[in-house]
Amino acid sequence: MSAELSGFRRFLHWGPITALSIIKCITLTTLYMNSMWWPPNESFAAFAHQALFLLLSTLATFNYVMATLTGPGLMPKQWQPKDPKDTQFLQYCKKCEGYKAPRSHHCRKCDRCVKKMDHHCPWINHCVGWANHAYFTFFLLFSILGSLHGTVVLCCSFWRGIYRYYYLTHGLAHLASVQFTLTSIIMCILGMGLSIGVVIGLSMLLYIQMKTIVTNQTGIEIWIVEKAIYRRYRNPDSDDDFLYPYNLGWRDNLRQVFNDECQKRGEGIEWPVAEGCDQYTLTREQLAQKEEKRARTRTYKCIRPVTGRWLPLFSQGWRVCVGAPCSDEPRIHLRPDDIIRVTRFRSHWLFGERVPSEQEIRGEKKHQRKGHIRGWFPRQAAVELIEPEQDSSGDGSHDENPPAQNINGYHRHLKQQQRNGHAKKYM
Ligand SMILES: [Zn+2]
Ligand SMILES: [Zn+2]
Repeated sequence: MSAELSGFRRFLHWGPITALSIIKCITLTTLYMNSMWWPPNESFAAFAHQALFLLLSTLATFNYVMATLTGPGLMPKQWQPKDPKDTQFLQYCKKCEGYKAPRSHHCRKCDRCVKKMDHHCPWINHCVGWANHAYFTFFLLFSILGSLHGTVVLCCSFWRGIYRYYYLTHGLAHLASVQFTLTSIIMCILGMGLSIGVVIGLSMLLYIQMKTIVTNQTGIEIWIVEKAIYRRYRNPDSDDDFLYPYNLGWRDNLRQVFNDECQKRGEGIEWPVAEGCDQYTLTREQLAQKEEKRARTRTYKCIRPVTGRWLPLFSQGWRVCVGAPCSDEPRIHLRPDDIIRVTRFRSHWLFGERVPSEQEIRGEKKHQRKGHIRGWFPRQAAVELIEPEQDSSGDGSHDENPPAQNINGYHRHLKQQQRNGHAKKYM
């Protein structure tokens, strides 16, 4: 998905098409049922009731369209901080050939660095970030309110519709206003199911979004802070304290997203920070975490096929399934001889990133592989590879990673290693 995909072409994707169809389906079904249950031309209250529903539906659609069209705000390509000295505190994005400003992250789907990235949302076919955070949150809020309203109207008219015969035979003809046809009863049941689903699903999302906004900590930053705390827990003697820089107190945090114009603030590059912090407090922590990760990376080679299934009972056995990691992170599919850089370890599972083959890097179509490149896989399907120089020194540490541009030579080197019996298996 290209970042240059702008304007209305963003909507030509299963996410927006499904989301807009659901909104329209709930709106039209509710209006149709309401026209029989409480016709708007009956009284002023009935008119106001329908107008309120239309207003909620329009606001939900408007904020949805604006969240997609505005986008999260992308970092300019080849971006550099004003003071070149500050580059030492920033991560470099090879894809965008520029530095990542504080709070920005590279989105694989958008293929660009995104300002204050929260998450990539397939429903809007764009990221949620600095520029569209308010629109996205208002979209959630008005969709929930509109669907709640729709649920009430649809359930009441359904009740009236199925008891129509009872009302007519018991002298309550004024209540028998809802008359079903086969199509309208199917639409009514479908509409009820959709609106209840929207209320439940989006309420959970809204709760997460509000937590993010009130603490001024995006989904990605929650991770970084957790790792920062863990780092200090493991090294209690280190005196480098960490204070999350963007928490300004809940009122100011709210104002960062919602303000008079309901618009983004600033440029999305410099951020107001708490006392005792500076612009690079978080990015310095990120660099330190990255350095630690690099030091713990181990290289593994796949020795038997991995399906990428969540519970590979038939291919890997019950022990692997019982020990499966409790996380929604992806599972990767592997072929024998694949090289994986592993950063997390469980007794039966490993988490790592597959090193793409030379053909994949060159972009040859028939060698492109589907699925995730980074994720969990069963530990027994791979063996750890040990570098020769470290093997002879006997300390067992192997911090060097093969340079990406020299993958072919590296593969040859690994084969040689295997023949010499340097591959070590950890079960
Ligand atoms: Zn990037
Ligand atoms: Zn994205």
